[in-house]
Amino acid sequence: MGVEVPRMTGGTPPHAVMPQGGRATRAEIDLDAVAHNVRFFAAQAGPRAGVMAVVKANAYGHGATMVARAALAAGARWLAVATVDEGRQLRDMGIGAPILVLAPSAPEEALAAVRGALTLAVADLDGAAAVAAAAGDAPAPIHVEIDTGLGRFGVHHTVAVEMIARIAALPGLRLDGLYTHFATADEADRSFHDRQQARFAAILAELAARGIAPPHIHQDNSAGSLIGPGAHATLIRPGIALYGLSPSEEVPAPAALRPVLRLRTRVARVLDLAPGDSVSYGRTFVAERPTRAALVPLGYADGYRRALSGRGQMLLGGRRAPVLGRVCMDQTVIGVPDGVAVAVGDEVVALGAQGGAAIGADELAALAGTIAYEIGTGISARVPRHYRRGGRTVAIETLAGLRDCAA
Ligand SMILES: *Cc1c(COP(=O)(O)O)cnc(C)c1O
Repeated sequence: MGVEVPRMTGGTPPHAVMPQGGRATRAEIDLDAVAHNVRFFAAQAGPRAGVMAVVKANAYGHGATMVARAALAAGARWLAVATVDEGRQLRDMGIGAPILVLAPSAPEEALAAVRGALTLAVADLDGAAAVAAAAGDAPAPIHVEIDTGLGRFGVHHTVAVEMIARIAALPGLRLDGLYTHFATADEADRSFHDRQQARFAAILAELAARGIAPPHIHQDNSAGSLIGPGAHATLIRPGIALYGLSPSEEVPAPAALRPVLRLRTRVARVLDLAPGDSVSYGRTFVAERPTRAALVPLGYADGYRRALSGRGQMLLGGRRAPVLGRVCMDQTVIGVPDGVAVAVGDEVVALGAQGGAAIGADELAALAGTIAYEIGTGISARVPRHYRRGGRTVAIETLAGLRDCAA
């Protein structure tokens, strides 16, 4: 006895035409665009500074390993992550470049970090002592973050000179860098940014007067790098804009940067709704007239946010197609735009360009009440990443791991 295939209205059964080659829902990552954007920031950094590519949170959802490789090949000197695990993942994938762990780590992680040749960010004596205790024969490198006003991690600027002098004197450590992080670099009003910058510069000067001048100084995230990197910096730390996304409305990504990610799927089923037919949980969409709709296998567990229910749009046939009813965990229904002849297997783009139309992360973020950062990082691990170079897919990453594609 075979499996009974339900009859679909208005289309062929999905199994008959689903394309080969894995899940129809996938994120396409343009590695050429990553390389282009890294080179843009290398130029932005000026002749004396280099790029520390921020690839935390799985490279903002774009896939840390392949993005890191592309960034390094394009000239990035350092990588930055937020956790020791993220750094170790990159080491396991054979990446040997210097890696800074930007966020606080637990003392228990120090040994793993040192063994993984990761540079930890430190902000107090206990943290520094934990790294020193984990160090082997060679002193372990650290960067100290200075809190010049963000009010998050870092040695508070009022006590920074004394504290850094004590940390620098600990045996088993090598003070390799000092940095700060801005609270308002993405805002048009520069006053607080300038105050933070002045505090940082003053601390660096006082430390230098005491003979403490580590090789690396850095302060600028994407927005800071775009508005003009700090004069004494040896590195800049762009994240969001490396992916072609804007830090904010007030500091948008320049047109020269290229978007990296395209989230696409395919029509799994065509539905012909009669007046009165409803769509999805809660029946929040009820057809008023005969309506052709399409089901796509993309839901909030993939990162297509539920807040886009009844509000978002996708692209079908190069036209905007409204989300009908609620976004489900694994599936969403969209309306088929008038004049678009739809068939099972047709491409649907949830983020990125199709034909002459495009949907940006900013648009989805605004509709969902969040920021582009959260749209990218929200694309979950179960969405296969298809890495493309020169118009070809060169590697695919799924829950089963990363594999190169045969030429
Ligand atoms: C995340 C992060 C960055 C990158 O910020 P973007 O706004 O994405 O460019 C830089 N520095 C630190 C300390 C960070 O936490």
